[in-house]
Amino acid sequence: MKLFIHRKDLRTEDLAAFDYLRETGEPVLHLLILDSFLLKKGREQEHSGVNFLRHVSRLRKLYDKAGRRLHLAYGEPEEVLSHLLKSFEGGESEIDEVVVHRDFTPYARERDRKLKKAAQDRGAAFTPLLDTLMVDPEAFAEFTGKDGYYKIFAPFHKKWLDYLAQAPNEPSSTSLKDLQAAEVDPDWPKRFDPPFDLDDYEPADEWEDKLKPFLEDGIAEYGDKRDYYPELPASGVNPHVNAGAVSIRELYARAIRRDGSDEWVRQLAFRDFYLYLAIYDEDYFAYEKKYDLSALTDEHYERWAKGETGIPVIDAAMRELNETGLMPNRLRILCAMFLTKNLQCPFTLGENYFRRKLLDYDNVQNRGNWLWCASLGANSAPYFRVVNPVTQSEKYDPNGEHIRQWLPELKNEDAKTVHKPRKDAIVDLKASRAAAIETYKSIVNGN
Ligand SMILES: Cc1cc2nc3c(=O)[nH]c(=O)nc-3n(C[C@H](O)[C@H](O)[C@H](O)COP(=O)(O)OP(=O)(O)OC[C@H]3O[C@@H](n4cnc5c(N)ncnc54)[C@H](O)[C@@H]3O)c2cc1C
Repeated sequence: MKLFIHRKDLRTEDLAAFDYLRETGEPVLHLLILDSFLLKKGREQEHSGVNFLRHVSRLRKLYDKAGRRLHLAYGEPEEVLSHLLKSFEGGESEIDEVVVHRDFTPYARERDRKLKKAAQDRGAAFTPLLDTLMVDPEAFAEFTGKDGYYKIFAPFHKKWLDYLAQAPNEPSSTSLKDLQAAEVDPDWPKRFDPPFDLDDYEPADEWEDKLKPFLEDGIAEYGDKRDYYPELPASGVNPHVNAGAVSIRELYARAIRRDGSDEWVRQLAFRDFYLYLAIYDEDYFAYEKKYDLSALTDEHYERWAKGETGIPVIDAAMRELNETGLMPNRLRILCAMFLTKNLQCPFTLGENYFRRKLLDYDNVQNRGNWLWCASLGANSAPYFRVVNPVTQSEKYDPNGEHIRQWLPELKNEDAKTVHKPRKDAIVDLKASRAAAIETYKSIVNGN
């Protein structure tokens, strides 16, 4: 018998692992581990945790609908796995292989090292498969023939398109019903029960309800309009993408045949690029140790997080995030640059805050974007790039609609005054910009 463990792939169609398992022709036991480490510190009540658990609920429904069983256990993954392997050991339904999809964060690598050991200790193979990227990084490296890896997005993007033109990564038609079900019922001791009730989490909405209208009406305008956040011109599909409810292959295949899809497809390449960097750039998760960030301070962090900086566009964005878990990309850039540059706060604090709050939080994508905004790492904004949140607000939200929506105290301001820093703003934008440039010049140049 084979064991498949779901992680960031909460769907029942178009999974690389299902193709592989179908080929084996053997019965499969399906498991999802609610990882006690990832759900610690009340994460199950934060937007990012809620998004994940709502997708777990949806997945359970999909299994039920297909007449299949999804086993759920809460705890440390290697402990859950050891228990399961042991309970079938020596019997007719012994598990001889554990199949997962590869994941590239430091925590995930360490977790998978432990899972591999737990599997091998009990004589089972451990098979990690690639599912989350459009391009297979090893095959891509061979295709480019490049010595080392791409550190900058533009040349990566060009090669990425070339690669996919000659090695398309089509969605798979394999689904749960194509796999043979394992007719066994593992015994789960009480200690593997989650400390919360999954029934409290309403199944996640359907990604198709967002993707379809966007592909039909929005994609061609995405490049020009994405930043005009009051019009909400982006797809909004990302919370489903990061839970793995829809595969990246599906998004690419559906988008690429549309006119005017280049800019949106470019964003899919960005997603792959950050994953690629997480694989090849040894410092990707360690830049905070590589640079000397001791000149930075957390003095204004709390006010930023609460949306109490006195800069309306920042406060509106942070309050939207706190309440809904959503924040359009342009506002993420403004908030991240404001925190790291104007407030001279270490990027890791903002990164961690987004970890809890973003509905579409993803460790690799979040880090890549925070590094970019903080001018750290190989692919980042130059250290002297400090955008002015007020002029950006005037440009992208000319009537101040977004501000008024989230800061009702400013509802009577006119389209001109609504953007302006309040009297009690925690920093002066001009002075803090100049100071940030000096500080980041030293950080980046290492002096
Ligand atoms: C400081 C900061 C933090 C961020 N944190 C995250 C995060 O935790 N998780 C996350 O997935 N994205 C993150 N992003 C990237 C981006 O903001 C979101 O991917 C985007 O807002 C999702 O919007 P959407 O659902 O409308 O997708 P669309 O805008 O319609 O884009 C479609 C797809 O393209 C990809 N994409 C779009 N923009 C980016 C980008 N800048 N980088 C990488 N991929 C992108 C996503 O996979 C998305 O599903 C962050 C950006 C910034 C500036």
